[in-house]
Amino acid sequence: MRILIVEDDTLLGDGIRVGLSQQGYAADWVEDGSMAQAALLTNEYDAIILDLGLPKISGLELLKEIRKNGNNTPVIILTAQDGVEDRIAGLDTGADDYLTKPFDLEELTARLRAMIRRSGGRSSPVIQHGDIVVDPASHSVKNNGVVTDISPREFTILQLLLENQGLVMSRSRLEEGLYAWNDEVESNTVEVHIHHIRKKLGAKLIRTIRGVGYIVDK
Ligand code: CA
Repeated sequence: MRILIVEDDTLLGDGIRVGLSQQGYAADWVEDGSMAQAALLTNEYDAIILDLGLPKISGLELLKEIRKNGNNTPVIILTAQDGVEDRIAGLDTGADDYLTKPFDLEELTARLRAMIRRSGGRSSPVIQHGDIVVDPASHSVKNNGVVTDISPREFTILQLLLENQGLVMSRSRLEEGLYAWNDEVESNTVEVHIHHIRKKLGAKLIRTIRGVGYIVDK
């Protein structure tokens, strides 16, 4: 899952980035609104963490623009403890959730999971496909009730495919979910991970659409 963090407080921004990376997210951190605009033009994100008090372009202006451009990526806004009006304006502008500073990283990740789940039209916390049950909270996969050993990157690919059942996911879209800007990208990595997932969960789960990408049928 690829997350964009927009936060001008260096300690907080980098802290969130490191915390999310440790939990298997590919997290990019930018410090102002114009850098966020550039990031949004070049990458597709599964969620955006947006501080409202930003230099140059305010978080609210950025959010307005994101929604005006038809970008429906779930957004959680970060506001000051006493920022009731900010929170209201943010939610009315198209934010999906908010957190007041200071907050716990655990709460942020729980809210991210919930937002990503809702944006996929899912109300249950786990993703189910036939005998396979995927739990984003515990990063665990069960096949027919048996826990399957799966690496964090295999998990990310599996989750992206299952969240988008019935849709073809391109290799580059899957790659975007795996790596943040500073990560070293290995070649053929998506193919290798898909190969491992098939070995663990059955060859039929993921179909290759030649020249296009991969799909998990509904
Ligand atoms: Ca700020």
